[in-house]
Amino acid sequence: MPKAPRIVIVGGGIAGLLLATRLGNTLGRSGRAQVSLIDRSATHVWKPMLHTIAAGTRDVQQQQVIYLAHARDHGFDYQPGEMEGLDRSARVVKLAELRAPSGEVVIGPRMVEYDVLVFALGSHANDFGTPGVLDHCHFIDSQAQAEIFNEALRIRIFQSVVTNSPLRVSIVGAGATGVELAAELSRLLEVASGYGDPEIRSRLSLTLYESGPRILAAFPPTVSQSSEAQLRQIGFTVRTDTRVTAAEADGLRLGDGSKQPADLMVWAAGVKAPAFLGMLDGIATNRSNQINVRSTLQAQDDDRIFALGDCSTLTLPGHERPLAPTAQVATQQAQFLAKHMPAWIDGGALPDFAFHDFGALVSLSDYNAFGTLGQFGFFRGGFIKGRFAQLSHAMLYRQHQQALHGFAKATLLWTAERINGFVQPKIRLS
Ligand SMILES: Cc1cc2nc3c(=O)[nH]c(=O)nc-3n(C[C@H](O)[C@H](O)[C@H](O)COP(=O)(O)OP(=O)(O)OC[C@H]3O[C@@H](n4cnc5c(N)ncnc54)[C@H](O)[C@@H]3O)c2cc1C
Repeated sequence: MPKAPRIVIVGGGIAGLLLATRLGNTLGRSGRAQVSLIDRSATHVWKPMLHTIAAGTRDVQQQQVIYLAHARDHGFDYQPGEMEGLDRSARVVKLAELRAPSGEVVIGPRMVEYDVLVFALGSHANDFGTPGVLDHCHFIDSQAQAEIFNEALRIRIFQSVVTNSPLRVSIVGAGATGVELAAELSRLLEVASGYGDPEIRSRLSLTLYESGPRILAAFPPTVSQSSEAQLRQIGFTVRTDTRVTAAEADGLRLGDGSKQPADLMVWAAGVKAPAFLGMLDGIATNRSNQINVRSTLQAQDDDRIFALGDCSTLTLPGHERPLAPTAQVATQQAQFLAKHMPAWIDGGALPDFAFHDFGALVSLSDYNAFGTLGQFGFFRGGFIKGRFAQLSHAMLYRQHQQALHGFAKATLLWTAERINGFVQPKIRLS
């Protein structure tokens, strides 16, 4: 390893931005390494809040981290760009051309050299090749997609009010994204009823489709049952064991051949890493394009390449299933590398990553939250709900903010958000 190795992290999400921040603070500032972060977006948003941005119940401007400013404060450099390939023998990352919103090419394709490469590219929903999905359904996997959905939603709400017609929304996939988005849409229209049309909430007719036997399949059955009961109480239709076979301009086609009309459709099923990872210069991946990593988080066949978060897959010894693609796993893997990489670049050995399960939570907007506690402490595996579960869910984001900004700045950000809550509308109106 050279004296000040170039550590390149691709993807500034939950895992990548936390790792860049920590390594920048430790190695970058002292000159022990040159730490670079590449992301195709200019801003970072905590992905588990994208459904609130999609619904318009949270102001994205207040929540986003601007990479360029954050990099300057934390000893790393930020390079805008979308990774599209890798040359392992030359040790370069290939970036696609950068285009202006008008489509004009601003910078041509370029290469970034590395000594150590970390993939933290996340994942997106998987349409499983279902016809019409890419053309007719919205996705909520990035800030840009959440904002596009919000735009379409506001137009449809306006249309529904003016024409006095129902607003039919279909969400495919009842994982955390689909369930949390459904509850948030209900909340949005409840608040919106204070802005001119008291009937607006009753116009919303929402159906959640799930091909499996229960919603929130990754959660314990108690969480699934409670969440489904809450969604039904809100007035939504939940259809489990129901396969969507096609999306059409005006609705969904189901496995039994029937057509379900919809004005807005969201695809939130499945998890898949970016397609180009599946064709990366000899790097082994699974069928979902996730990089197979060893317990040190290094790629199977290259010690200089690491992968963490949703774009990687790791089955820990003694476990049958790989770690789930969650914020908790992404965070712990970033913390692990931030702690051990400094010694490793000096020639030390890497320990094995160990996952500490602190439980799983799902938040149904202001209505409720459900979850289980992790395998630690007196109440291990216990079921929680209500205000305590809502607070625990909200704490996950506050911890992320604190890890990125430190306690003082995170507290200021939280305070500013609270103050804005008093002076700004509670939902996005324009
Ligand atoms: C609506 C929603 C709700 C969720 N709720 C929960 C929850 O309650 N609890 C939970 O644990 N998990 C939840 N998740 C899942 C959680 O968000 C992910 O597991 C987590 O974000 C994974 O972190 P990551 O760092 O691997 O990837 P991400 O946070 O997705 O970051 C990936 C980054 O890579 C960048 N990128 C992607 N491709 C490229 C490219 N080719 N070139 C350059 N940059 C690229 C992206 O811009 C992004 O910044 C939710 C997800 C969604 C969408």
